[in-house]
Amino acid sequence: MSDVVDARSDASATLFEAARHVIPGGVNSPVRAFRSVGGTPRFIAEASGAWLTDEDGNRYVDYVLSWGPMILGHANPAIVAAISHQAAKGTSYGAPTALETTLAEMVIAMVPSVEMVRFVSSGTEATMSAVRLARAFTGRTKVLKFAGCYHGHADAFLVQAGSGVATLGLPDSPGVTPGTVADTLTCAYNDLAAATAIAEAHTDSLAAIIVEPVVGNMGLVQPLPGYLEGLRALATRTGAVLIFDEVMTGFRVAAGGAQAHYGITPDLTCLGKVIGGGLPVAAYGGRRDIMAAVAPSGKMYQAGTLSGNPIAMAAGIATLQQLQAPEFYATLTASAERVVEIVRTAAAKHGVAVTASNVGSMWGFFLCEGPVADYESAKRADTQKYATLFHTLLMHGVYIAPSQFEAAFISSLHGECELSVTAAAFDAAFAAIS
Ligand code: PLP
Repeated sequence: MSDVVDARSDASATLFEAARHVIPGGVNSPVRAFRSVGGTPRFIAEASGAWLTDEDGNRYVDYVLSWGPMILGHANPAIVAAISHQAAKGTSYGAPTALETTLAEMVIAMVPSVEMVRFVSSGTEATMSAVRLARAFTGRTKVLKFAGCYHGHADAFLVQAGSGVATLGLPDSPGVTPGTVADTLTCAYNDLAAATAIAEAHTDSLAAIIVEPVVGNMGLVQPLPGYLEGLRALATRTGAVLIFDEVMTGFRVAAGGAQAHYGITPDLTCLGKVIGGGLPVAAYGGRRDIMAAVAPSGKMYQAGTLSGNPIAMAAGIATLQQLQAPEFYATLTASAERVVEIVRTAAAKHGVAVTASNVGSMWGFFLCEGPVADYESAKRADTQKYATLFHTLLMHGVYIAPSQFEAAFISSLHGECELSVTAAAFDAAFAAIS
C-alpha cells in the first residue's frame, strides 16, 4: 500500500530496516509487520497504563494490549513488583515451586470446568497439548475445528478454512504435510447443522471438537444463541472431547471466561494471555479424569523446560489477584460498551457501514453491514478502508490491530481521557473513509 501516509515514524522505520536484515520480515510474529495495512510498524519504546510510546516519542491509546494479556494496563505496579521480587530469588529452577500450586488453585477457583491444570508457555502449546490429550483419552484421531478460528501455529491447526461441508483439510502453510492435517476436519463457525453432519459421520474417529467460544481471530464474532450448547450436546453424543480454546476469552470476557459467561461446561479448556500478566504463561486444564492421563500421572507425554517458570507464575498470581476486585468486570465491560458506542456513532455520523460489538472487554468492528457470524461474512469487510482508518487512528494517537481480522481489547486503565482521545480519533478516521 504505497499511498499510505505514514509520518512521524522515522525512528521506527530505521529500526524496522535493521530488523529486516536479521529477523524474517523484521518481526517475531507476522501480524506485527503491518502487511495488511501497509506502512511502518511502530517500534515500542515503553508502555504505561493504557498508553504505548514508540521510538519516535509518539503516544497511543492502546487497544491491542499485547493481543489481550494487559487487562490491567501496562507496567501494573503489583505485577512489576512481583516480577522483581521473584527475579531476585532466581529466574528458573526446573523444579517445582509453591507458586505453581497457588496459581493452579486460583485458576481452578475461577474457571468453572477446570478441576486440574497444567502450565505451559504459549497458547500454541496449550492447544496442541489439549488435542494430544483428547486423542490419548479417546483413542481416536480426528479433530473438528471451525473456519476462521485460530488455535496457534501447531501443524494440525494450520488448515484451510472449509465451508459448511465436511472437508478434509488442506495445509494452510508450506511445511505442513497433508498427512499431518488429514485428521483435521473443518466447517463454518456458528453452523451447528454442518458440525453435526461432520461429527456424526465420524463418530468412531472424532477425538475432539475445538472452538473459540467467542471468536477473536477473524475479528470479533459471537456465538449465535444455542450454538455452544449445541456443540456441547454434540460432543457428549459422539463421545468427543469438547475443548474451549479460551486463550483469548479466558479471564477476559468474564472472570471465568466464556464458559462462565454462557454457562457451558467444556471438557478441556486452553488458557493463555491474561493468565500470565504479560509473561509467557498458558495452560490447559479440565476434567480430572481426562487430566489424569497427562504424564507423569498418565501416559500422554507433555513437558517444558520453562513450564511453570517462577517469574511467570508470580506475574500470573499478581494478575489474577487483582481481577477479584469488586465490580472489576462490570466496570471493564461498561468501558468496552462505550468504545463500541464511540465507533458506531462516528461511523453513523460519516455514513460508513459498520458492525461493532463487544463481549465483556473484548470488542471489535467490521467495516461492512452485519450480521457477521462466520469467516465468510467477516471477509465482506472492506480491508482497504480499514487500512486508511487504521493509519488515521495512529495519526490521532489510537493504536488498534493492524488487521481487520483481529479483536480489540480494553484495560481497567482506559478512563475518560483515553475515551475522549478515542472518540476524536474515530471521528477523524471515519471522516477519512466516508
Ligand atoms: N488460541 C487463541 C484463541 C489465540 O487467540 C491464540 C493467539 O492469539 C492462540 C491460541 C495461540 O497463542 P500463542 O500466540 O500464545 O501461541
